[in-house]
Amino acid sequence: MLKQINGLHHVTSMASDAYENNRFFTQVLGLRRIKKTVNFDAPDVYHLYYGDEEGTPGSVMTYFPFPGMERGRPGTGEVGTTAYSVPKNSLGFWEKHFEENNVKLLGREERFGENRLEFAAPDTDRFALVETDDARAPWTGANIPSEHAIRGFHSASIRLQDDGSMRELLRFMNYQQVEERNGITRMAIEGGNGAHVVDLERLPSASPSVQGAGSVHHVAFSVDDREAQKEVRKALLDTGYQVTPVIDRDYFWAIYFRTPGGVLFEVATNEPGFDRDEAKAHLGQSLKLPTQHEHLRPLLEKTLQPIED
Ligand code: ZN
Repeated sequence: MLKQINGLHHVTSMASDAYENNRFFTQVLGLRRIKKTVNFDAPDVYHLYYGDEEGTPGSVMTYFPFPGMERGRPGTGEVGTTAYSVPKNSLGFWEKHFEENNVKLLGREERFGENRLEFAAPDTDRFALVETDDARAPWTGANIPSEHAIRGFHSASIRLQDDGSMRELLRFMNYQQVEERNGITRMAIEGGNGAHVVDLERLPSASPSVQGAGSVHHVAFSVDDREAQKEVRKALLDTGYQVTPVIDRDYFWAIYFRTPGGVLFEVATNEPGFDRDEAKAHLGQSLKLPTQHEHLRPLLEKTLQPIED
């Protein structure tokens, strides 16, 4: 079993409008935009990152906003809900805040003893806020009072027709089964990074998802450094997974593999981090381009949709 994985690193989704995406995550959710860059494989599309003050792994939501992209169709074989952690007695504040900002509320419930508020992002992407005791520091540069502000990810919910092989894979990745109720199995890493919970939702008769705006493209798990990543890669290869070579993503190193249920997993390093190419005080403010796309800067600065007024 692998001991190198700490929990989630980031979650990457697709959106249909960069301006609206940036407004929602920075002004409505009160996260910090920690990087404004472009998609390595399609440099005419932004890659926007939102997280806590430093973009701590386990707090980082990233988006590829493809202008006008059609919405995805939710189903199995994907991350259905991404949940953020907020302090106890915060959901009342958030419910009111969401109503004032015309955010669609999807219901309040208790899951495994935790209060949970589900809501939709602009492309109907499903998110939740979960009340927990969480020692992680929030970003306080936005308009959300710090006693209610988001601390980082709480969990990701993966929707599957059959969750047997996913359970086995997560166990191999250091997760242990915590509880099971109403078709949901909760798995967690003991001593994880705060974002160390995965819920498996078993939906035997649901249709497979179709990816589009509002869909999670992949979910990334955190390891400390490249050495740990090398060990994880070898162990996954030895178990029969087809894993990509290590890819330099400028702010972390990444490997990817497709899981049995169809969900794309990544294992990303906590090094070097988002202050690699700009000072911590100014994260996310200017357009950063991967070296191989730097020559496109004059064109991209003219053609990329402005994300702020
Ligand atoms: Zn990624």
